[in-house]
Amino acid sequence: MPELRILYAIISFIFGAVFASFAGVITYRVPKGLSIVKPDSYCPSCEKDIKGYDNIPILSYIFLGGKCRNCKAKIGVFSFLCEIFGGLGFMFAYLKYGYSSKMLPIFIALMLLVFLFIVIAGIDHETHDIYNITLILYVAIAVFITFYRCAVLNGDIWEYILGALFGFGFFGAIKLVAKLVLKKEALGSGDIYLVGIGGFLVGVLPLLISIIIGTLLGSVIEIIKIKTAKTEREAEIAFGPYLLLGIGLMAIFGEVFMTIYWEVLL
Ligand SMILES: [Zn+2]
Repeated sequence: MPELRILYAIISFIFGAVFASFAGVITYRVPKGLSIVKPDSYCPSCEKDIKGYDNIPILSYIFLGGKCRNCKAKIGVFSFLCEIFGGLGFMFAYLKYGYSSKMLPIFIALMLLVFLFIVIAGIDHETHDIYNITLILYVAIAVFITFYRCAVLNGDIWEYILGALFGFGFFGAIKLVAKLVLKKEALGSGDIYLVGIGGFLVGVLPLLISIIIGTLLGSVIEIIKIKTAKTEREAEIAFGPYLLLGIGLMAIFGEVFMTIYWEVLL
């Protein structure tokens, strides 16, 4: 029934946005050693409590014009974008995998993955650091999804093993070359893990597409940000969020790309 699917897709979007908003609380508070349950949301600038009606994911940012109601301090656009991506991530996962009991485990795992990616991206954005615990959870979800695809949905495990080798090898090589030739750190080791584990999650070709999407988007946006910034910015760029966006997209739609690829090729 298409009406019901549309309704469920909208509900998935709302859930995704709410979870992404909670992920935003985690990424703001955990690096500072603050509790994630207490106190209620407050403005970091004027420290006044944020009322419930000013704390609705996506909508409040738009209605408040991206500013605190009380002190007019700017609210970061990053968390607003995360809420949109969280909503879209849950909705796409539902539309692609939420329709049958056989696909249900992948749908649930993908929602966890979207939530985790927003936490990792947020912490990377705040601190330029990627926590080990988040990488362990990432491995666990990637292993589950890949094994399920292979055991139940007739995937080929070698596709994913090669993906991991390609991810670790390719990014490891870039890091090594940069260190030897340019004498500087081009990539954090966190980024190598994001891509390597991502390879095991999506396979070789979708990983390549993720890297292309991530680096193109990251370069363009960061160059615009540097050009338009009024103050001197630090040179180090956090590429993690962009890579995760590409990998997340391929975790949901990689299969579609593979099908197109084989049909064009054969
Ligand atoms: Zn304020």
